[in-house]
Amino acid sequence: MKTHFSYDDEIEQAQCGTWLGGFSSTSSDWAQVDCGACLKQKAKIIAIHNTEEAAIVAQMGDMADFMRNQPQEDDR
Ligand SMILES: [Zn+2]
Repeated sequence: MKTHFSYDDEIEQAQCGTWLGGFSSTSSDWAQVDCGACLKQKAKIIAIHNTEEAAIVAQMGDMADFMRNQPQEDDR
C-alpha cells in the first residue's frame, strides 16, 4: 500500500494522477508519502499549490478592493 500526496483526504485522484481506491491512502505530510511518482513531482506539486494559493489571495484582495470602491449607502 502506497501513500500518495494530497492536500485533501476526500479526493479520488492523488496529485500524481493515480486513482485512489481502498488500497491507497493519502497524506498531506510529505514525510509519510512513499509513492515514487508523487515524490518525483513534489517540487511541481508544491509550486502549483503555492500558485493556486497566491491566486486565491490575489482574488480575495481584488474582492476587498471592489467592495471598498462600491458607493456606500451612507454616502448618498
Ligand atoms: Zn502518488
